[in-house]
Amino acid sequence: MTSILGESAPQSLVKYFRWLRSYGLNDSHSGNASCRDGDVVWITPTGCCADVLTAADLLPARIGDPPPDGASLDGALHLEVYRRVADAIAVMHSHGPYSIAMTLDGVDFRAMDFEGRHYFEHVPVLSIPHDAYVDQSPALVAQALATHRIAIVRGHGVYAWGKTIDQAYKWTCSLESSARIAWLARLAGTGEPVSS
Ligand SMILES: [Zn+2]
Repeated sequence: MTSILGESAPQSLVKYFRWLRSYGLNDSHSGNASCRDGDVVWITPTGCCADVLTAADLLPARIGDPPPDGASLDGALHLEVYRRVADAIAVMHSHGPYSIAMTLDGVDFRAMDFEGRHYFEHVPVLSIPHDAYVDQSPALVAQALATHRIAIVRGHGVYAWGKTIDQAYKWTCSLESSARIAWLARLAGTGEPVSS
């Protein structure tokens, strides 16, 4: 698949993954991402640095198979999302600091601003034990993403899927913006986040 910009799907994914880093939604080596291109899912390698990642570094995987050696630790999670969500073309995982900080209480996030309310009725916050993360996260996150565009794992980060790579990026950025607004509103004393 080649985009209107003449990019391959892996090239486009790397561009967006770097933007997550550039705009503060990931640290140098945090997060991961994937995109589906026909029968192939391209996944970022484990421990990769977004600043120097290239399309040639992405690893091919297939839905229903185990993730390839060297794929992100979340590789199985990505493949499970594609298995559960037929429309998913991209999955992104990021560590937006406002999204994480504002949901450390484990309560589902409800945006206070217009755009956040428009895009997300609420954002589920999942609590997954650290020592069981690799075993439990694929099913739990994919289950949440089967009915939501985006979900947060408490104290860890954000998982979003999109019908395009751009859309997964959009949900990720929009949630972080809403979380930042909620934080500023709390500081300003102009509103309290609505609890579930
Ligand atoms: Zn993470």
